[in-house]
Amino acid sequence: MKVYIATPYGFCSGVKKSISLAEKILSLKGEVYTLGALVHNPKVIEELSKKGIKVLGKDEIAEGKALIVRAHGLPQRDIDFYKSLGNEIYDATCPLVKKVQVLAEYLKNNKYKVIIIGEKNHPEVIGILSYTDNQGIVIEYESDIEKVEYYPKIGVVFQTTQSFDNAIQKVNLIMNKGKEIRIFNTICPETIERQEKAKKLSKIVDVALVLGGKNSANTRRLYITLSLKVPTYHIENLEEIDKNWFKEDSKVGIITGTSTPNNFVEEVLALLKSLYPLEIHLV
Ligand code: SF4
Repeated sequence: MKVYIATPYGFCSGVKKSISLAEKILSLKGEVYTLGALVHNPKVIEELSKKGIKVLGKDEIAEGKALIVRAHGLPQRDIDFYKSLGNEIYDATCPLVKKVQVLAEYLKNNKYKVIIIGEKNHPEVIGILSYTDNQGIVIEYESDIEKVEYYPKIGVVFQTTQSFDNAIQKVNLIMNKGKEIRIFNTICPETIERQEKAKKLSKIVDVALVLGGKNSANTRRLYITLSLKVPTYHIENLEEIDKNWFKEDSKVGIITGTSTPNNFVEEVLALLKSLYPLEIHLV
């Protein structure tokens, strides 16, 4: 069986930074809580929890604790609220997400109607929107654009994990909604790279495995890209893999979301190796 692994795989730089900050604070304080899941991957959250990095429960009282802001960021008012309760806040917001928050605030302060192209209920988008005092407009579907009025000044930013193709399609439809339109490409380069690798893989393989959390936006996008071309399975746990998907002469593609640990790739490879001899290629 030939296996094609899209590189880079495993955690992106933002997730690595968040986890290493959380581990550092844990070693200093002995106890640390994250405000929302640190990353969108249940396996990773479970492993962090075993180490002592726990997600603050909805009903838990956060007073005098060490709290971590997750990689996707949080609305500023939430951070202020937790600070007011005497908690120590450590900001693990990915610098690329922070950049979108800063841009959104800048555009709002300069009288632009801020348009965020992204998923309405995604924590990153909710956070970015808060920097427009919740006066921005989130465009998730093309139908959302029909409702947008005409504004003299529009500033457009993207959720960092949007696919480039999807973002451009929406931007084209926004072009007649304003007189002056400023567009900031805030899509994360690491996300774009993985999207490109997904397209490349789809031309090589005859079955693809997308490894990562089902709640991870960038992983879902990789799944969509590949599934348009080849049979594709979005795998969160090893147990979800069905051996009947593969034959001895299969060409299997493997790609990970940005919050998928390296060891999951190794586990999948070990499973495939138990079925057939492997010839591994990096793409
Ligand atoms: S995918 Fe990009 S924006 Fe998101 S956490 Fe990773 S590096 Fe940051």
